[in-house]
Amino acid sequence: MPELPEVETTRRGIAPHICGKHLRDVIIRDARLRWPVDLELASFIKGKKLIAVERRAKYLLLRFHNGTVLWHLGMSGNLRIVDSRSEIKKHDHIDFVFNKNCILRFHDPRRFGCVLWDAGDIAENPLIKHLGPEPLADAFNADYLFTRSRRSSKPVKTWIMDGKIVVGVGNIYANEALFSSAIHPLRKANKLSKKQCDILVDEIKKVLSHAIKQGGTTLRDFVGGDGKPGYFAQSLKVYGRGGQACVTCHKPLKESHLGQRTTVYCTSCQK
Ligand SMILES: [Zn+2]
Repeated sequence: MPELPEVETTRRGIAPHICGKHLRDVIIRDARLRWPVDLELASFIKGKKLIAVERRAKYLLLRFHNGTVLWHLGMSGNLRIVDSRSEIKKHDHIDFVFNKNCILRFHDPRRFGCVLWDAGDIAENPLIKHLGPEPLADAFNADYLFTRSRRSSKPVKTWIMDGKIVVGVGNIYANEALFSSAIHPLRKANKLSKKQCDILVDEIKKVLSHAIKQGGTTLRDFVGGDGKPGYFAQSLKVYGRGGQACVTCHKPLKESHLGQRTTVYCTSCQK
């Protein structure tokens, strides 16, 4: 599933090709995504200039003067830049045609993605409005996390993955950041010390920045018809390593399930 770093990598990959260009056409081959695509979509944006491609949590925001297209990649979606000679494959559901050499093509086998139009203030959109801060923004800091944590007795791992607290901390990143912070995933959020909040914020920022940086090396893959752009192998210390030796103390890492998500941690290093 595309996580925040993949979505940010997608944004950086597609933006230079399409920003500032006028949209010539919208082709909807299959509107049955997570929510049906508005078949009138073309009438809102055809001929309009794309001003910017932004990101909020895992939503890409394609900004036009008269509104915004919210694009979510869902479980299996990807966006790439193709030209008019590119073969249309199964699951290529939507094209945003800028010119014959520049078509933004959405491929989504499982159709959990979405493409929605919002003519109003995007910050007030119900999908966006209640989201917590961006993990790499200054608003996500130790003071914020400590204050919010006082009100929750949930296990810290479940809590930190809640998009109302902070967006974009998916399962892999939660596992990795808690290991690097030496915090036990089952520790209750309201039992975190200020110091631990400080370390956890730093480690979340670090693991996500690192993943985005790694994604940067795949940017060229966004152009062309082949391949799965932007989803990259990462060097992970705990995730996927249950039973293997802890990189710090060499004891076997424990693997369990917490809220149906695989949780891997070191019972000796994480308190
Ligand atoms: Zn250890």
